[in-house]
Amino acid sequence: MDKPKILAIDDEDNYTEIFEEYFSLRGYDIRVETDPRKAIGFIGNERFDVILVDLKMGGVSGQDILKKVRDTDDRTKVIIITAYILSGKSKQELYDLGAYSINSKPINSLEELENTVNKAYSGN
Ligand SMILES: [Mg+2]
Repeated sequence: MDKPKILAIDDEDNYTEIFEEYFSLRGYDIRVETDPRKAIGFIGNERFDVILVDLKMGGVSGQDILKKVRDTDDRTKVIIITAYILSGKSKQELYDLGAYSINSKPINSLEELENTVNKAYSGN
């Protein structure tokens, strides 16, 4: 099965390191970015199949990233990752903007996250 090209954005580098190690060891093409302002600059120029993005980041939020993706490429799936408990309204807002799923931090299972990434990529 061909594997999605992933971008992971989180302002905490312990998360980007975990994602980079886990997914690259399993043969995924993954790019990580801890500066969301940089990420918002290259999204649209470089294609990713799936973007994992932290919601709360300084300067540019996960929601801003989601909007940028929607404005530039409607095939890319965006998975939001957040340590915060979101209200139903906030979740609905993210889904209305096109989020594929909203996952909580800390990550309980990287295997589960990998499954979500693959489901997003295969269009389920
Ligand atoms: Mg954060």
